[in-house]
Amino acid sequence: MTFEDLGLSPALLSAIADAGYEKPTPIQEGAIPVALTGRDVLGIAQTGTGKTASFTLPMIERLSRGRARARMPRSLVLAPTRELAAQVADNVKLYAKNHKLNMALLIGGVSFEPQKKILDQGADILIATPGRLLDHFERGGLLLTGVEILVIDEADRMLDMGFIPDIERILKLLPPRRQTLFFSATMPSEIKHLVDTFLRDPERVEVARPAQTADTITQYIVRVSDNQARTKREALRDAINRDGVKNGIIFCNRKRDVDIVARSLQRHGFSAAPIHGDLDQNQRMKTLAEFKSGELRLLVASDVAARGLDIPAVSHVFNVDIPRNADDYVHRIGRTGRAGQKGEAVTLVSSEDNKALAKVVKLIGQEPAELKLDGKAQPAPAEAAAPASEEPKTASSEEKPKSRRRSRSRNKPEAEAPAADAPKAETVSERAPAPEKTERKERPARNERSSRQDRKDRYDRHERDLSPVGFGDHVPEFLLRPALP
Ligand code: ADP
Ligand code: MG
Repeated sequence: MTFEDLGLSPALLSAIADAGYEKPTPIQEGAIPVALTGRDVLGIAQTGTGKTASFTLPMIERLSRGRARARMPRSLVLAPTRELAAQVADNVKLYAKNHKLNMALLIGGVSFEPQKKILDQGADILIATPGRLLDHFERGGLLLTGVEILVIDEADRMLDMGFIPDIERILKLLPPRRQTLFFSATMPSEIKHLVDTFLRDPERVEVARPAQTADTITQYIVRVSDNQARTKREALRDAINRDGVKNGIIFCNRKRDVDIVARSLQRHGFSAAPIHGDLDQNQRMKTLAEFKSGELRLLVASDVAARGLDIPAVSHVFNVDIPRNADDYVHRIGRTGRAGQKGEAVTLVSSEDNKALAKVVKLIGQEPAELKLDGKAQPAPAEAAAPASEEPKTASSEEKPKSRRRSRSRNKPEAEAPAADAPKAETVSERAPAPEKTERKERPARNERSSRQDRKDRYDRHERDLSPVGFGDHVPEFLLRPALP
């Protein structure tokens, strides 16, 4: 089948040809013709199968007639992370280059004003993370009643990140008469419930079962004697030093370990850099670009940071530990062995990983072979002498003056340590009703504040670890503004 067969216009076909695509992928073949008719689509396919084009192409086609009005986007794409949203935006730019469509990208970590400006001009396509979208909505910069097409991308990751309540809230702000295109790699019961509630007679398009691992991937486990990070770091270096390791992604369960491992590799002379949610948006984009260009050899990542990222095939995937969620193992190792090429996945296993390993073995229906490393890698002197020096320099809460925190977190101790990673800036409500009794005036309305805080907590919870968490180098905009009278 060709793209011509799918019913796309010449303007789109030309952009697709320029992108270098010769024929549609199976999910595109299944989803595009249905989406073009205006029907709802439930697309189930793994990462790397071309889902983005399967919703952006029909979307562009259907939006090509008509014009956007100020603050009333005509279509909305929800993605779980900033990178994924940015990636969808890149794709839209590529495919819609022959169309006059206005696009806005609403993601956290970048300032509100430019985003607001594009919304004011009228966006045909709005791409957003749920938190930032709700923030714009709450600020009154946005009306969702004109949305004709809604896309929910990576729904299972939204679930993992605790975004389902946000999604449900957003869904209720949309007009009931709309098209919904819904994509997920897996269909846990919560996702199924969402689909049953909010999609209208969707056409289900499913390709490749999620629990399958490609047979182009050779999987190994390496047993390490205990769960001391240093032992794993040595084993990791040995694994990387094996023949045939061109480039790789190294996965850690906790973002704290992402930093530690990246730093350790750098100090041992490897070309390596971390990517996780606490890093500044520009930094993450830069690292990703360097990895894509081949400038950077090893990318150390958390599952959240890596999920769905469009990264070219790598020769190796290394797991510093086994993911808590067995599905993530399949996603992780799917980064290698793509497009029929051979790939290898090496997983470090200590006694603490045994339970998680059993779950993975059950899911994939095979036991990875054990790989013995010759133990050439020596611990670096600095590492042996002062292991503590590898602790990530996360800004602790002491580094920020307490007074700046104001009373917003007074009643909620867990709000004392928000990560820089919050998907949106926080705002103090201007619409706060008079606070009760002894509460100070500047404190935002509890409901409003706590719904924002809840969103942030849900996001944070996903990557939480035991390291001290602070604002890092990032000071949210609202903290720099003078207190409300
Ligand atoms: P998914 O969202 O399913 O993880 P993406 O949409 O990010 O997958 O696509 C993965 C990669 O495949 C991207 O680099 C994209 O440009 C490329 N791609 C998508 N469709 C095609 C196609 N029909 N032919 C060749 N490459 C494609
Ligand atoms: Mg995707």
